[in-house]
Amino acid sequence: MMLKGKKGLVIGVANDHSIAWGISKALHDAGAELAFTYQGAAFEKRVRPLAESIGGHIVGDCDVTQSAMLDNVFSKTADIFSGEFDFLVHSVAYSDKSELKGKYLDTSRENFLNSMDISCYSLVDVTRRAVPMMKKGGSVITLTYLGAERIVPNYNVMGVAKAALEASVRYLANDLGPDNIRVNAISAGPMRTLAGSAIGSARAMYSFNATYSPLGRSMTLDDIGGAGLFLLSDLSSGITGETLYVDAGYHNIGVPDLTREKREEG
Ligand code: NAD
Repeated sequence: MMLKGKKGLVIGVANDHSIAWGISKALHDAGAELAFTYQGAAFEKRVRPLAESIGGHIVGDCDVTQSAMLDNVFSKTADIFSGEFDFLVHSVAYSDKSELKGKYLDTSRENFLNSMDISCYSLVDVTRRAVPMMKKGGSVITLTYLGAERIVPNYNVMGVAKAALEASVRYLANDLGPDNIRVNAISAGPMRTLAGSAIGSARAMYSFNATYSPLGRSMTLDDIGGAGLFLLSDLSSGITGETLYVDAGYHNIGVPDLTREKREEG
């Protein structure tokens, strides 16, 4: 019960395959009390029963590009948690699927700005709103991917948005260190989620990671959940501004061992 008595807000559960849900389960098992947002009525139908299954609170519909919606869910979170909470999970990304294939060169201005807004700026926007409620310090995590640093086919503008997100994590960590608020990112290996499947040739990516990563398998929600729990608990009290890889070690590979037997799991 590492998080007994701790409270936090989770933004980014879409369904029971969502990375944010894997993290939420680990936080709940460790004794935390959670509040959830959802994006639109269609997702509410999935998020509400999940939240209820772990005694969580729903604080409302939230499109991170809409300031009024953000104000509303943070105000509801403040009400539920008596003006104070300990952690924030940001697990949000979006880009037009039609530009998550082909060439980065062909990225439109509109989709570039929208992808950056939703996938990067939103971390700044939600963290700023959380700070006044993290009165005894706190911990913020976001989700990123190796495509921020290396070329990954079809990841395109999302790679650029994730690079900006990882840089944001470092700047936010520095801004908020004096308040004992830590900000970190988890760089997850490819997972079969709604967002993951939007990337062109996603199945090949799951298989490639499962085949050639040192652990020779795909990541599970429990793998990411455990890392989330670590970063949101006092076990990581000296860690901030960090990107923690939870990818079966794949980011360490220079040249893959092509003699390995191909694996399809994901
Ligand atoms: P997911 O589809 O379950 O979650 C993505 C979430 O983003 C959804 O809950 C969706 O509602 C939310 N979202 C998108 N646009 C939004 C907006 N305008 N306002 C509010 N919410 C919005 O997929 P996931 O894979 O769990 O993605 C969560 C995070 O993990 C993302 O940042 C993603 O880039 C990252 N990630 C995913 C993988 C992967 O392979 N699936 C790997 C590394 C990192």
